[in-house]
Amino acid sequence: MDDAGIVRAGLLGRCPHCGAGKLFCGFLSLAERCEECRLDFSFADAGDGPAVFVILLIGFVIVGLALWLEVSTGAPLWLHLVLWIPLALILCLTALRTLKGLLIALQFRNNAAEGRLGEKGR
Ligand SMILES: [Zn+2]
Repeated sequence: MDDAGIVRAGLLGRCPHCGAGKLFCGFLSLAERCEECRLDFSFADAGDGPAVFVILLIGFVIVGLALWLEVSTGAPLWLHLVLWIPLALILCLTALRTLKGLLIALQFRNNAAEGRLGEKGR
């Protein structure tokens, strides 16, 4: 699969090897292996990466919108709470799964793993 296909598979939560099998068996839980090509997903460990990107990206959007609304209209506090808390939850939950799939696909593409001492003469 080419690089664009791997990225597309990751964004859609599909296997980065075949692009057909499901990467997730729950909302954020990974399947043990691909149901189509039998790729073992034990290599996959996105760690805190998806959460960091979600915090930075969605936080930038929500805080920017809240500041814009406050400065331009002086909206009351209850309006901020009603608008930004549900929007932040929806955007964060959606982006978290998408970014986790993307980071695992990129991990597969680049054969990334934790550094280990004593391997390959290092
Ligand atoms: Zn597969």
